[in-house]
Amino acid sequence: MAKKKRSWLEQFLDPEPEKPPIEDKPNPPVLQPALRQLGTTDCPICKHAVAVFLTKTNRPFINCGFCCARIFYNGKTSMQLLRKRMEPVEED
Ligand SMILES: [Zn+2]
Repeated sequence: MAKKKRSWLEQFLDPEPEKPPIEDKPNPPVLQPALRQLGTTDCPICKHAVAVFLTKTNRPFINCGFCCARIFYNGKTSMQLLRKRMEPVEED
């Protein structure tokens, strides 16, 4: 069976899908979901006030921008101590 040539009208009514142009865009930066801020406390290393965030595994942690210390509060005791010292953030 010979392939019937599409008439201009058929082409007009039912255009063949155009291939999307291959864009050579760099991948957009992957944005990390914002971690919830619990409050602020003093960095145990440099004593600057720093934000306390909650990790995805529900552990408080500090990422000090002044001395670059990263502190994770993994145990019950450290979490209790943190809670005493931390100024809770006001949520809207
Ligand atoms: Zn620090």
